[in-house]
Amino acid sequence: MDLLYLHPSATRGKPSFLFMPAGVFPMLNHARRHGFAVSAVNEAVELALDPHFDTAQFLATHRAQVYALDLHWHEHAHGALSLARLIKERHPDAVVVLGGITASRYADEILRDHPAVDHVVSGYGEEPLLQLLQGLRRRAAPARRSVLTAAAPLALDDYDETDHTALLHAREYAMAGIHGLRTDGGPRGVYYRNGVGCTRNCPYCGGAASAHVEVFGHRRPLRRSPALVAADLARLAAQGMGWVCLTHDVSSGSPDYWRELFDEVRASRARLGVYLEANGLPSAGFVRELARTFVPADTRIAITPLCGDDEQRALNGKSFGASRLKACLRTIKEAGLGLVLYFADGLPGPAPGSRARSLLLKAQLEAEFRPQMSFRTPLTLDPGSPMQLRPDDFGVRVRLRTLADYLARAAARSDGRPFDNSGYGLRAVSARRRR
Ligand code: SF4
Repeated sequence: MDLLYLHPSATRGKPSFLFMPAGVFPMLNHARRHGFAVSAVNEAVELALDPHFDTAQFLATHRAQVYALDLHWHEHAHGALSLARLIKERHPDAVVVLGGITASRYADEILRDHPAVDHVVSGYGEEPLLQLLQGLRRRAAPARRSVLTAAAPLALDDYDETDHTALLHAREYAMAGIHGLRTDGGPRGVYYRNGVGCTRNCPYCGGAASAHVEVFGHRRPLRRSPALVAADLARLAAQGMGWVCLTHDVSSGSPDYWRELFDEVRASRARLGVYLEANGLPSAGFVRELARTFVPADTRIAITPLCGDDEQRALNGKSFGASRLKACLRTIKEAGLGLVLYFADGLPGPAPGSRARSLLLKAQLEAEFRPQMSFRTPLTLDPGSPMQLRPDDFGVRVRLRTLADYLARAAARSDGRPFDNSGYGLRAVSARRRR
């Protein structure tokens, strides 16, 4: 085998954080299209299917020239580096590659401190991984212990986003939940990369617009062409997917863009639902068109009110007040779509009583709009998030800075030891900075 991709379980020996970065499938399909033998294993899915799944034994019998691992979300730091060591023990001559946004941020530290890793892909991996495989085939591979980067910006239309057959147990993966496989009998679904990047800079987000400039080299979001998205969705529906989770908020594009997209999807006759996480509040026109295009019963919009204070919400990247929020939720319900609400705990810019106001707004919205799900989750400091990079602007004391910090946190979590959940502390933010 030329390439074996592995998605590490965040908890060693147990299924945890099953979802793979959506860019993995197009990356693997790209290598296949160029003639390489590629296979993929999701360690967390395997552990969900078989609690006795033995990764070391699996690796001993699955030899590849290149092993690629994702370290996209920092929660996988311990899993990815544990797997890298395991691979090197079993196959010392194999090439071990790490990629993803966290790996990109800490590429130098990884190569300095983790000898089991031969290369880190910084930025999008489609072309660097292919070039590595081609270089190995020509016996002209890059020197080990180096960073691999793409020479040109990502052209999102160039890749196959819908073929999942490289993955062992791909059918089961379409029932993935956070820490196990869904058994609710609901429709199968996958993450689908319709676009990358964001226009906003929410302080807690490691995938904000500023992060895409630094790590991936583009300021504006990149979107797949509407006709290709429509064709992909029709293909996914034909594969039996009942819904797809869009990686990019379509409503953040211009009305011309999403109207064209919805026209194409309707013309394709793809019948499926979507899960759309809105960056802000989608317009009423957008919500109605979404409901007209996708299966309403299988379509959900996630809205993020974050907290109960308008000023704190604005400081954290969401500039809408409670009345506009309620009008939007009303439109979603009237359109017959499912609703998901996200609130966050530990936001920068707290004021006296803000926690109580958050809980009150959350309870009011739940009573009035009956969301399918409603969360209030604690934040963890993302690598490269605005509040990690500019803590004074947000009144934050940073405790997680290096990969070693994230690795220690992820290892403690995996081992069941106490760990620093948030990775930061809050202090008062000055009125000048708040503005
Ligand atoms: S939280 Fe969402 S809207 Fe905010 S910067 Fe991140 S991706 Fe964009």
